[in-house]
Formats: sequence, C-alpha cells, structure tokens
Amino acid sequence: MMRIPFIAGNWKMNTTVAKAAELVRGMVSGLDKIEGVEKVLCPPFISLTVVRELLKGSSVKLGAQNMHFELKGAYTGEISPLMLADLCEFVILGHSERRWYFGETDEMVNKKVKAALGSGLTPILCVGEGLEENEAGRAEEAISKQINCDLSGIDPSSNIVIAYEPVWAIGTGRAASGKEAVATIKFIRVCLAKLWNEDIAQSLRILYGGSVTSSNIAEFVSQPEIDGTLIGGSSLKTEEFLSIVNQTAEIKCHPV
Ligand code: PEP
Repeated sequence: MMRIPFIAGNWKMNTTVAKAAELVRGMVSGLDKIEGVEKVLCPPFISLTVVRELLKGSSVKLGAQNMHFELKGAYTGEISPLMLADLCEFVILGHSERRWYFGETDEMVNKKVKAALGSGLTPILCVGEGLEENEAGRAEEAISKQINCDLSGIDPSSNIVIAYEPVWAIGTGRAASGKEAVATIKFIRVCLAKLWNEDIAQSLRILYGGSVTSSNIAEFVSQPEIDGTLIGGSSLKTEEFLSIVNQTAEIKCHPV
C-alpha cells in the first residue's frame, strides 16, 4: 500500500508575522519544486492568514499547531476547529509540549481529534514516551495508552497522520536512532491493527519527530516503516529544511 511521504515543519512559538512571511518567501519556491513528498508548514496562529496567501498556487500545505475541541463559545484566547478549517488543512494535536506544559490529557486530545475530523481538518496526532518511561522500559505501555485513548471512538477510515515523538528527543539535540524509531513505529502499527485492523494500520502514515536535522534525516527516511518526519527547530532554517525535504524525496522516491 502506497503511503505518500510527509514532512511537516512545526514553527512552535517562533516568528513574528513579518518573520513568518520572510521565512515562507525564502523557502516556498524551493519546496514547491520537490515532488513526491507532501509538505506542510505549521506557523503560529496569527501568521496563518499571511502564510496561506504566500502558499497560494504552490504545492505546500498549511497546518496549525493546536486548537480547542469546542466549536465556539466562552473560551477566551482559544482557537476553534471552525476557525482553522477556513484557513488550513492540518492541525498538530497532542504535541508533547501541549501535554507537558499545558496539562493536555488523552481525554482532551481525543476530543480534539474528533472535533478536527468533524470540521474537515486532518490531525497530525503526536504520541511518545517521556524519558522516565523510556528508561523504565515502559515506552510501549505509554504509547499504547495514548493511541487507544486518543483514537477512541474515531472512525477507522479517518484521515489521520501519526507522529511518533519521544519526549526526550524533542528540541534536545538527542534524536532517537533510526532503529529505535522503527521499532516503536512498528509497535504503533500493531496498536492500530488491534484498535482497528491491519489494512488501516498499514495505510496510515507514521512519522518520526525529535531533533531531526539535514545530517540525520537519511537515517529515518531510509526506513520503509517511517513515512516522513515532524520537524521543529530545523524547520526554521531555510536551507536546513529544504535539504531535509529534498533528501526525503530522493530517498523515498528514487531508492537505490
Ligand atoms: C517537534 O516540535 O515536534 C519537534 C520534533 O521538535 P525538534 O525537531 O526541534 O526536536
């Protein structure tokens, strides 16, 4: 089953509106030329409109970094799926920074996945174990709990991208090895097969995320099990991000 390679850049809480525009202007034509990879940029909320304009006519897609699960109401400071659905196609949900710094629970992430799908957005659902869980040999237990709770009650035919992001690898410069990432991504497919079925498990794209750079991207995308990457820090550097997407296209689309 063909899974189209996927790379998303998560700019997190970086860039002013002007800087976001400058960054997109600097990378859009380079990204547009790279074929065979689905490319998504996820700027801060306030830059979505500007970035959307600048991406018009290109093959690069737009995503948000979070959203509330309610469609509207008295939730000061929050952004609803309906607001996003007008602007972008994707939304990152359950990122570990949301879970750890803002107390997002699996129940909340589950509501968000449901609301995103209900509004026509494709969730990029992040799962991954913390350092303590990893060191205690409880990574699989943590991840299967996240998969089962976050996807509970979701239609198996839903359009979802999953990102395996070990918390200890995010923004730390300490990436997982390709071997470690593959083992966990295989395990995620086992969880999906149990939750839904084997065909769905094989058809969903699963990314690796955590300290990916132009120097280690090949280690991940040369693995058939890994369908692409979710990139934080390196997506803010034009040449670095272009190299990551280029290498992914070369490796995935022209395997030696
Ligand atoms: C992320 O924020 O999803 C991420 C993977 O960050 P970084 O690439 O900076 O580790």
